Amino acid sequence: MRLILLGPPGAGKGTQAKRLMEEHGIPQLSTGDMLRAAVRHETPVGLKAKDIMARGDLVPDDVVVQIVSDRIEEEDCRPGFILDGFPRTVAQAEALEAMLHEHGKDLDAVIELQVDEEALAERVETRARESGEAVREDDTVEALKNRLSVYRAQTAPLIDHYAQIGKLLTVDGMQEIEAVSADIRRILSEAQNEKVRAAG
Ligand code: ADP
Repeated sequence: MRLILLGPPGAGKGTQAKRLMEEHGIPQLSTGDMLRAAVRHETPVGLKAKDIMARGDLVPDDVVVQIVSDRIEEEDCRPGFILDGFPRTVAQAEALEAMLHEHGKDLDAVIELQVDEEALAERVETRARESGEAVREDDTVEALKNRLSVYRAQTAPLIDHYAQIGKLLTVDGMQEIEAVSADIRRILSEAQNEKVRAAG
């Protein structure tokens, strides 16, 4: 199964991606995690991405597209994957479609986590406070504001994009974690049944 999780920063994409990973035995591909690892290891990509990420801006499309295209070629992605934080622009979505089609593959679904924007700042601040790890450089009020406006301008248009090609499934991301997971499970199985009906 090839899935995308879509939603603003703090919507719970990472949390739900990890649950889906366990349920379906497919890897979570978080471009944010991959880029943070590159920054930590001071690779050429990391050096390029560091300041961009700290500001909450987007790393150039060609850089992330290359990272994802290399990653999905790996053996563990053969049965599928969950993309978390990618695509973030229409150009990235088109590049993803092209790389999948090249291998005769397709996306199964795009799950949009719908959240109330006012609750987001609070969630991200709590994450920054409670996280056992070092606080993320971009979990500051300024960077978060910028990440939200970048999301609205560059990433939210993907909701229409995926609705138009009939891939969009929307869940209410304001519920408890467990309830969001249950909704995702339900809409995925409904979409699956629908596909079977359409094919039969
Ligand atoms: P969030 O909590 O905002 O969803 P992520 O961990 O997904 O954060 O991403 C953190 C940062 O990494 C982004 O603000 C951006 O700078 C960079 N990044 C991650 N994924 C992408 C992408 N697909 N395209 C461009 N930049 C990205």
